[in-house]
Amino acid sequence: MLITLDSKIKQNELNIIKDYLNNKNILFKAIDNNMYILKGDTYKLDEQSVLSLEGVKSCIRLSKMYHLSSLDYKQKTVVKVGNVSFGDKKIVFIAGPCSIDSKDLLFENCKILKESNVSVLRAGCYKPRTSPYFFQGLQKEGLKILTEMKEKFNMPVITEITDVNNLSLYKDVDILQVGARNMKNYELLKALGKQEKPVLIKRGPESTIDELLLSAEYVLKEGNPNVILCERGIRSFEKHTRYVLDLAGVAALKRLTHLPVIVDPSHACGDYSLVESMIYASIMAGCDGIMVEVHNDPRRALSDGKQSLKASKIKDIVNKAKKMSQIIDRDI
Ligand code: PEP
Ligand code: MN
Repeated sequence: MLITLDSKIKQNELNIIKDYLNNKNILFKAIDNNMYILKGDTYKLDEQSVLSLEGVKSCIRLSKMYHLSSLDYKQKTVVKVGNVSFGDKKIVFIAGPCSIDSKDLLFENCKILKESNVSVLRAGCYKPRTSPYFFQGLQKEGLKILTEMKEKFNMPVITEITDVNNLSLYKDVDILQVGARNMKNYELLKALGKQEKPVLIKRGPESTIDELLLSAEYVLKEGNPNVILCERGIRSFEKHTRYVLDLAGVAALKRLTHLPVIVDPSHACGDYSLVESMIYASIMAGCDGIMVEVHNDPRRALSDGKQSLKASKIKDIVNKAKKMSQIIDRDI
């Protein structure tokens, strides 16, 4: 970090600045008349607080605001869920309906997914919907069905957690999903950092990559190293797709962080007919996994039917994706 000081700074003001930085173990070194370089754990410094010190004229951050999620801290994280590894050579396929609408539909769907090289099943129980009038998920009942699904198909499961007070209901869930809307629910992130289950954080549609990495930092700082990031589309002026899938952002993330990065093309596209090509494009962008919404009868889905791939299509798509991943020395 660089700071410049007022040329007429008083000695007592300078002492206060030095004490402030000393207390935070930050080295303070003059590089020019009024310009100083700050060295040490500068990610712990809040520019606004530095600027509020009497005599500081400007403050420029040169280093990253995150530390534990950065590639400078660690080269690679592999998040293990049973036999499945995120962040290793194999690209992980997560698939399932947006939400559990009924046990029968879900089980029919999962049977097809299990036969299609999908490694993790997804199904929403608590659904944070834009409108309070829309289907909110089967909630507690849904989590019970999810447990039955996990036992019947003997596969790891992921579902979204919206409220930290519900954590005890998620004991059979393998990966806890923090949805795009909750990416900045810092109390939820801290609570998930204090437990051991892997946490998948979806990028908020209005959030920058740095903000996503800072959300991951909240979980890592509390001691849980098992964080997976997910790109799911960001907001723009474009109307032909639900969001804009930021695939360059995926490639950029892989240069910034050691954490596994997966892509959810379903929410980004909003239309099932666009999803298949975005799965292949995501693989080429270097993702570590795909999370896709799949339904055996999308017309009967209680949420996100339009963007759900038909279950009967998924086997072929995974097979094609496998071939493509081999071109870039990955696999499925
Ligand atoms: C979901 O995965 O079904 C979901 C609600 O996604 P997002 O949080 O990305 O909107
Ligand atoms: Mn959905």
